[in-house]
Amino acid sequence: HYQGEKTMNGINGTVAIVTGGGSGIGQATAKRFAEEGASVVVNDIDVEGGKETVSAIEADGGEAVFVEGDVTDPEDVAETVATALDTFGGLDFAFNNAGIEGASEPSSDQPLSNWEKVIDINLTGVFLGLREQIPAMLHDGGGAIVNTASIAGLLGFPNLTPYVASKHGVVGLTKTAALEFSAEGVRVNAVCPGVIETPMVERTQEEDPETMEQTIAATPIDRLGQPEEIASAVVWLCSEDASFVTGESLVVDGGYSVQ
Ligand code: NAD
Repeated sequence: HYQGEKTMNGINGTVAIVTGGGSGIGQATAKRFAEEGASVVVNDIDVEGGKETVSAIEADGGEAVFVEGDVTDPEDVAETVATALDTFGGLDFAFNNAGIEGASEPSSDQPLSNWEKVIDINLTGVFLGLREQIPAMLHDGGGAIVNTASIAGLLGFPNLTPYVASKHGVVGLTKTAALEFSAEGVRVNAVCPGVIETPMVERTQEEDPETMEQTIAATPIDRLGQPEEIASAVVWLCSEDASFVTGESLVVDGGYSVQ
């Protein structure tokens, strides 16, 4: 995959926020933004992970700052945007990516607390991000936002009711915000990863190795995806190379969902 050369137009010299940037897909995307020359504001509730991302970017000669924050807390979300404006002088891109898988139970046994937690982080978190980021981008000459949905935003998956509902919600939020703001210069898209080798999937693999084997077997490109393969789709969606793409939920799943 990506070999570390600057390849995308319109990313160098910009400012990007990445939520859930302390692990997995968010960490890989924060690094890729920085490799392409963006200054990155890394958000996470996990301080260790967030700082690890910043250190890796700085060690590579890039620019990044960590803001500890919960995407479900409007004040934390505002602080993340304020940090982009105060530290780097603007906001061009945001990757609303923080998310959790939640407990795996049939709908009839799903605890309300699990439903509320997953919807809060995966869906309300994206809404709060959009609400804060869009005005900042409009004020600063436009921009682009990518939200992390999933193939679970397009298909059903047994036992993952809140996760599937939250990710379908992200696809709807993305379409609506794109209709509202594309003419004013803010493109809004989503990325729908298939099964990607991150700590989230490693946890599932430990709990339910059989399902994971079946999932890999059902992937035409016969392996798990890598976080860097989502990062390149996200940074491309933000780049000038995707200047006519908005409201799209881009599937990056090794062919899983076409069957
Ligand atoms: P991950 O667990 O490796 O990373 C998620 C990060 O989000 C963690 O660092 C975590 O601390 C952070 N986070 C969780 N709750 C937060 C909150 N309230 N506020 C701020 N940060 C918070 O998982 P990942 O696989 O990199 O997942 C990233 C996104 O990709 C999620 O939205 C997930 O649903 C989605 N996704 C993952 C896969 C996959 O196969 N890994 C597939 C489709 C979609």
